[in-house]
Amino acid sequence: MKPSTLVALQANLKALNLSRVAQNLDVLLRQAKEGGIGCDEFLLELTHAELQARAESRLSRRIKESRFPLLKPLETFDFDAVPDLDVRLFRELVQGDYIQQRRNVIFLGRSGTGKTHMATALGIEACRQNYRTRFVTCYGLVNELVEAREQRALQRLIQKYVRYDLLILDELGYIPFSKEGSELLFQVLAERHEKGSVIITTNLGFADWTQVFGDPTMTAALLDRLTHKAHIIHCSWESYRLKQSLRSKAKHTEQRPTHESVA
Ligand code: ADP
Ligand code: MG
Repeated sequence: MKPSTLVALQANLKALNLSRVAQNLDVLLRQAKEGGIGCDEFLLELTHAELQARAESRLSRRIKESRFPLLKPLETFDFDAVPDLDVRLFRELVQGDYIQQRRNVIFLGRSGTGKTHMATALGIEACRQNYRTRFVTCYGLVNELVEAREQRALQRLIQKYVRYDLLILDELGYIPFSKEGSELLFQVLAERHEKGSVIITTNLGFADWTQVFGDPTMTAALLDRLTHKAHIIHCSWESYRLKQSLRSKAKHTEQRPTHESVA
């Protein structure tokens, strides 16, 4: 290709927002020449490269927007460690149909059982499927809402939280809310009802939710909405962390020579 043609082609590609193709044009052209690839295959390769680049940047944008505290994908979750998990249901959730159906997921269980890891993994899968996702702790969300009310920006913030396809609310029940806090959280969840999915992780059984929300009538109304058609996953196994540290302690003791063996 003549240098002037290459320059013009690169300019056109950039003007068409095909920047990744424009950047790699000389490499792609060389590969095509060396491989004896025809025009049709070359065009297919070009469009494929651009689509792939766009999908990659969309995914990293979605993940950034989600604000996961730690990136814990499905690939790092050890299913053998949680034999009581309903793996069939979990794999189904990974497919993301629950988001399309606007159904909720509630992970209930003690600390260390992998609730946040599983919720994050589902969030990352949602990003891979191009769903607008947001991860926030209950405490963090309540603080944001209280602040927004003080600055008269509450409705805008609520609408922002209503628009996510998937809202992940981590750690419900770790810290009780003020009356104002629980009312504001209730407002967000009530507005999202049947408009978008929510994943909640909590260490509280449903009977104890009144302790956090205060008002029994409001708690009943909230539970009614949240649990309606929800997938509820009871994480009744022991803490993964605890199991790991017990295992490594046991290994350590096994490896340490006993008095008798030294003597
Ligand atoms: P929870 O939210 O229930 O308190 P976490 O999700 O924070 O628990 O899990 C505690 C730690 O153990 C995290 O580092 C998490 O990545 C890890 N963990 C828990 N369960 C598993 C698992 N089945 N496979 C791999 N890591 C796990
Ligand atoms: Mg957690």
